[in-house]
Formats: sequence, C-alpha cells, structure tokens
Amino acid sequence: MRKDYLLNRWVVMATERSRRPTDFAKPKTEAAKGAVCPMCVGNENMTPPALMLYLKEDGKIKKTQDLLVGERTKNWLVRCIPNLYPAFSPPDQPQEKTRTVTNECLGYAVGHHEVIIESPNHDENPADAELPQLERVILAYIDRVKELIAKPYVKSISIFRNYGQQAGASLTHAHSQIIATSTIPLILQAELDASKAFCKKNGKCVFCDIIERESKSPRLIQEDSDFIVFAPYASINPMEFWIVPKKHAANIVDLDADEVSAFAKTLKTSLKALKDLVNDPPYNYGFHLALNKKAKDHYHWHLEVYPKLSIWAGFEISTGTYINTITPETTADCLRKAIKPCGPNFISSISV
Ligand SMILES: [Zn+2]
Ligand SMILES: [Zn+2]
Ligand SMILES: [Zn+2]
Repeated sequence: MRKDYLLNRWVVMATERSRRPTDFAKPKTEAAKGAVCPMCVGNENMTPPALMLYLKEDGKIKKTQDLLVGERTKNWLVRCIPNLYPAFSPPDQPQEKTRTVTNECLGYAVGHHEVIIESPNHDENPADAELPQLERVILAYIDRVKELIAKPYVKSISIFRNYGQQAGASLTHAHSQIIATSTIPLILQAELDASKAFCKKNGKCVFCDIIERESKSPRLIQEDSDFIVFAPYASINPMEFWIVPKKHAANIVDLDADEVSAFAKTLKTSLKALKDLVNDPPYNYGFHLALNKKAKDHYHWHLEVYPKLSIWAGFEISTGTYINTITPETTADCLRKAIKPCGPNFISSISV
C-alpha cells in the first residue's frame, strides 16, 4: 500500500493482477457523425458571445472579445465563451463578497464557468496540436486566471480538460473548461493544508522536495530545464502522470514566454506518448493552483493527468481507498520509451 505525498489517501498496488499498459488499449469507437458542432468555425451563433478571443490581424495575434449584440467574430484562433449550462454563476452585484456562504452547510454556487475552444480545427487536441496553437491555449488559460483572480468572490480556479466520452466530454471539439468558485474544493484544500504543515516543519516546499526525489527515481518520465514529468509514487490511476514546473510558483500567472513554450512542448509530448501507447485513451486533466498570496511560499502549482483506463467500483467509491493494477514505475518506464521529441518550436507573438 502506498500513501499520497500529501493527501491521507492510500492505494493498493495490485501487481499480482499485473497488466501491461498495452492491455488497456481499446478499439476506437467512431464518434457519432451528423450532429452540427457548435464549436466549429461558422457556428459561433450557436454559442454565447466570446468573453475573450485571440485572432490574427496584420500578422500579429490580437486579444479581443465578441460584441454582446450583432455578428460574432469568425477568424478566431482560440475562443473563450461562458458555459451555456453553468454550474456556477456570478453574483448579482459584482463587488459582492458576502452571501456566497450563508451558513456552514448552505451556500450559493457563486463563480464562473467558462469553455475554452482550443482551436478552429475540430480535432486539434494537445497530443497532435501545432505547438504555437497549444501555446495560445496555455496563454488563454493564463489570461482567464488573471481576469478571474481579480474578482473579490473568487477563491479558487480549476482548469480542466475532459477528453473522450468516457471521461465526460459531451462534445468532441478540442476544448477545456474553467470553473472559478467562491469556496476551495476538498482536494485542493487538503493539499494546501498538508503543504503548509510540511513547510512549517521542514522549512521548504514539499513539491520542490518531490521534484528533487522523483528526478532520481524510476518514476521519472521526462524533464527539461523548466518542467519535470513523473508518475506519482501513489498513483491511483494506471498511466497517471503529473507535470510540475521546476520554478517554485503557486499558480500560472507569472509564467514567461519561454516557460509557456516549454510547458506546451512537455504537455504535447507526454499526451502523445500516452496516445501512442494505449490507443488514444480517454483522460481528464486538472491544474492545481493556489490563488491566495499566503500560500505562495508553501504551494507549488502542477498539472495532474488521469487516464481513464479502469473503472472505480464499489470498494474505491465507498471507501476512498484505491486499487491500481499498474505501478507508477511500470507507467514511467513505458511512457519514457514512448516519448518522441517534437519539432522546432515557434514562439508565438501574443502579448500577455
Ligand atoms: Zn467542431
Ligand atoms: Zn516549490
Ligand atoms: Zn495536486
């Protein structure tokens, strides 16, 4: 049994059930065709006006937005729209700080729920995306975090991606989602508390410590001067991996152009290795970010990628203890061998 670096969460490494990663490869089911994609170019009127969009103008990338009435912009590169069915909505009064939680067990679902359409090309998912386009997606994440972080009622921002129907993607067009909330979600709060306690006891950041240990471990998948990718010691999913920046920072707002570029490359090559190895499996990924300035010394942002290769059943769901049939050491070994370098990178010219 292994315990998570920070969470009080255990996983059984059930290697006697051992399976090779390739055993998880499933035949691809054809996506249902015929339905009109509301995220494709030309169908902008099927979605709300864009809160933010990038477009190319005079050879430069420009950041703008749709007007609330009238024609929607068609020549966009990345488009951010409000979710048509939001789980969280802004308060009636934008400056409102109170009333988000009325008492200990009742609150309003105050926040924002947005969709980032990652490309005009329906199938431009990160594993196959052109690097400059993937850089723009990451710049869009950063731009949205910068805007949402400034709202007085926003306490936490979750950026996540569902890929494949089994991972919860109802539309196949390449997209991510952002949910900003007025409360801090359970797992993030547990990481914040545990990293704070570690820092108090040891005088350093637990993630900086993990980077140092995992860079020398058999769980290392790839690294460059800016990012490290490894299969976490107590992975609860087969083929799970995390991407962690080497530079200590609590969230993504201060990433510079080189770091954005390095992150795009790391994300693409890691997801491409997963795609090649297990026949393009469904997955979810989620950024863990801390917004509160008080967390800046002890919290360290990262991206957790959860391939959806096994089904959590009665034991996992009813207890919160997990069974994983592939050790992170095997995951790392297979992904490491499947990584292919990507071609030369072109830095895009967005001013963030
Ligand atoms: Zn589409
Ligand atoms: Zn750190
Ligand atoms: Zn985390």
